[in-house]
Amino acid sequence: MRGEHIPMVNTERPWVRHRKFKMDPETQLAVWNEWGGDGDLIVYHSHPTGTAFASELDRTVILQSPNLKFLIYAVVTGRFRAYQAIDGKVEEIKIFKTDIDATV
Ligand SMILES: [Zn+2]
Repeated sequence: MRGEHIPMVNTERPWVRHRKFKMDPETQLAVWNEWGGDGDLIVYHSHPTGTAFASELDRTVILQSPNLKFLIYAVVTGRFRAYQAIDGKVEEIKIFKTDIDATV
């Protein structure tokens, strides 16, 4: 799994799909189990019309493990923000933009 990129399928209901993304629970559980909380796991997604601030749902996921890094890309502004649970709170962490290709 180290360094592996695992795309997720959006299983949200079709009429909600354009506003929300719900990761396929089976794939998510398989990744989570294989990861086991040891080392860093980076989860990323975009906010097509909003900012790169973590939503309440994002915060719920972030708080599941202190080793989870959560990267959000705001399509409109082209800005990235990253978050991590630190001492039980969601904190923004610094990221360094080097050769991130947002078209991938
Ligand atoms: Zn989000």
